Amino acid sequence: MNIHEYQAKAILREYGVPVSQGAAAFTPEDAVSVANELGGPVWVVKAQIHAGGRGKGTFKEPQAGEQGGVRLARSMEDVRNFADQMLGRTLVTHQTGPDGKTVQRLYIEEGASIARELYLSALVDRGSSRIAFICSTEGGVDIEKVAAETPEKILTLTIDPAAGYSPFHGRRIAFALGLQGDQVKQCVKLIGNLYRAFTEKDMSLLEINPLIVTEQGELRCLDAKVNFDDNALFRQSAVSNLRDIDEEDPAEVEASRHGLNYVKLDGNIGCMVNGAGLAMATMDIIKLYGAEPANFLDVGGGANKEQVMNAFKIILSDKAVEGILVNIFGGIMRCDIIAEGIIAAAKEMDIRVPLVVRLEGTNVEMGKQMLSDSGLAIIPADDLADAAQKIVAKVKEAA
Ligand code: ADP
Ligand code: MG
Repeated sequence: MNIHEYQAKAILREYGVPVSQGAAAFTPEDAVSVANELGGPVWVVKAQIHAGGRGKGTFKEPQAGEQGGVRLARSMEDVRNFADQMLGRTLVTHQTGPDGKTVQRLYIEEGASIARELYLSALVDRGSSRIAFICSTEGGVDIEKVAAETPEKILTLTIDPAAGYSPFHGRRIAFALGLQGDQVKQCVKLIGNLYRAFTEKDMSLLEINPLIVTEQGELRCLDAKVNFDDNALFRQSAVSNLRDIDEEDPAEVEASRHGLNYVKLDGNIGCMVNGAGLAMATMDIIKLYGAEPANFLDVGGGANKEQVMNAFKIILSDKAVEGILVNIFGGIMRCDIIAEGIIAAAKEMDIRVPLVVRLEGTNVEMGKQMLSDSGLAIIPADDLADAAQKIVAKVKEAA
């Protein structure tokens, strides 16, 4: 689960991490009253969306004088104007994809005087089975470019979970960041507090870009992006309450309401599968035959007719889908029930794309018979490879 920058900063503040003063705003009036309370003389108006790259982002249907989703305001009039310009608009950044995200919240923060912009993040590193800190002197808005072009400027340091955080970790990061004197002490404390926040709150990613050194020589987190481990949310009720459904993919939200496990992907072949392992295998074999899956969709072990219909609706709501592959192993779930669901869905919904169905398991012959008797344009397949080849060929043919 993701949260907004202002929510992440509130959590970090609880852990004694230095962040700027600020508050969320939902209307231009809110923005002005927050700015009044902060006092100024400069404020930053920041669009709150679950994506980075806001500063360099662009709004759809641009208006004159507009510059991205992070703006420096030098007067109350600026604060009101920027808030008015951003709210309700669609912001496109390199992380949102071409559709962008609608700005529904703002964060109004005191303006900081920046001497240096550094990069710092922490994540669960599967390779080392540890939490890794990543840092670089080249912070700011172009860290992806640094990683691609000058990877030697990025330091990774892992922390042994059994031993936990020690000040030497903080000192190594401080030296890698070129910090000196009191800043080293600040860094040791900062990394310790971030590590505590990361582990206690079950984060999976914490990215501070930029971590700044102010003109006064203080370290401060100027941006904060946090992801949490969904599997730990059951014990993180305060975190769960920060969920903003508006930021999530509507199809994924709809799917979870129906108990379907759905993740949207970039390809054009919609998949309906039961069981996560079979779903992964189906995505792999689609790739093997030269196409890309449009989604991961696990209808679960005991799906019924309604769930199969809901699954079709969700797959078909994705405009990128040019063909559907249904791959079901009838264990607990019987193939005739699945066939019934597919037939009902195909009759009720106008499925205009090729549909390949591979059934195996309990009552498979009955299921196959029902499909062929239905008179619907369903292409039967015998096994996984046959099914994948057929759907890939059909989609290529149609294109
Ligand atoms: P994003 O990474 O989504 O573009 P950031 O919060 O990192 O958003 O803001 C982009 C840039 O704007 C920062 O690298 C920093 O230079 C500047 N900035 C952000 N917040 C402030 C602030 N409170 N005061 C001064 N400059 C800021
Ligand atoms: Mg940033």
